[in-house]
Amino acid sequence: MTGQGASAGSLQQRFEASFMPTYGVPPVVPVRGEGCHVWDADGARYLDLIAGIAVSSLGHAHPALVEAVTRQVGAIAHTSNLFVNEPEVLLAERLLGLLKAPARVFMANSGAEANECALKLAIRHGKTTGRTYFVAAENGFHGRTLGALSLTGKPSIRDQFGPFPLDIRFVPYGDPDALKQAVTEDCAAVFLEPTQGEAGVVPPPAGYFAAAREVCDATGALLVLDEIQSAIGRTGHWFAHQHDGIIPDVLTLAKGLGGGLPIGACVGFGDAGTIFAKGDHGSTFGGNPVSSAAALAVLDTIERDDLLDHVRTIGARLAAGIDTVGHPLLARVRGRGLWLAAVLTSDAAPAVQAAAQRAGFLVNAVQPDAIRIAPPLVITAEQADSFVEALPAILTEASG
Ligand SMILES: *Cc1c(COP(=O)(O)O)cnc(C)c1O
Repeated sequence: MTGQGASAGSLQQRFEASFMPTYGVPPVVPVRGEGCHVWDADGARYLDLIAGIAVSSLGHAHPALVEAVTRQVGAIAHTSNLFVNEPEVLLAERLLGLLKAPARVFMANSGAEANECALKLAIRHGKTTGRTYFVAAENGFHGRTLGALSLTGKPSIRDQFGPFPLDIRFVPYGDPDALKQAVTEDCAAVFLEPTQGEAGVVPPPAGYFAAAREVCDATGALLVLDEIQSAIGRTGHWFAHQHDGIIPDVLTLAKGLGGGLPIGACVGFGDAGTIFAKGDHGSTFGGNPVSSAAALAVLDTIERDDLLDHVRTIGARLAAGIDTVGHPLLARVRGRGLWLAAVLTSDAAPAVQAAAQRAGFLVNAVQPDAIRIAPPLVITAEQADSFVEALPAILTEASG
């Protein structure tokens, strides 16, 4: 079960010696998981409240995922885009059914790739309609490849790789007037997250997406929603934009879709689904049958086990529990469903993450003053409560 059986410390040392230093040295070495628990290389058990950055929707080693992936890898593991595979067709049909609007899908392997597809669609839309620039949000995150990075409104990760060849204009997130000012008939597309994940699970004010939809309709700019972190049940709906009652022109998905297997998707609604012509885009691994089978198992399980309802119930319980903790280090909790941030009164998030880890909980210091909580969608009420009960001591230890 533990591979070569190396200790956590020795694997971390070897990681540091052989990897580019992009991640520093990560603090935990998980070797196996079951449900919402993971065990590290030294046998320590953790309650996983981050799910590999909102990815492991069904938790770890879920029987439905194991069965689907095992069956598919034994049937055919790869076909490439030279051939059709059944799981990718079933998955595309399934997604379109959940979206309840006429649309077409492109399958990718990750979030950044799904956004590259969306950006290429927007560029193509711009070329055919004489539109020259793009709008995105300050503090937004869309991925690390160059196109996705150029849309990312975080100077700390963006500026050192610029300048970028596209005219991308940033607006403050959540401000409908700024959006109205920035988006004209020369704008090809507006890229937004329904709630900003990497910025610290920051929701917009009510009505923001109705306003975004309106300005895009008025000008002909495409509304591109990056739902890579927010979709597939994370907020208690299949897609976060379903809370806002709008339909985007383009939607990108990844993270929770494959339940841990790499997959991404870009959906074009209506006319946006037929912007690309044959030969305009492609991916060797996109729509890989194993990842598609995993995604189908995720969607089936969410439906069969009524997990959207579960996410709403447990998410509200967890948020209410954190809210009543009443600790000087804890300002408030924000977010929706099982996608929350505990906002701190000082920049102590790394210390809180470390204290939580020592107490047996995996959380993520997503911002200096915010702890992200995005557990598997299958987390139980008892597991959520156990974190709330442990939180005061964790916060006190982090304050010390
Ligand atoms: C994680 C994320 C991405 C990038 O996904 P990768 O799979 O890491 O490329 C893009 N957009 C959002 C909103 C994300 O949360």
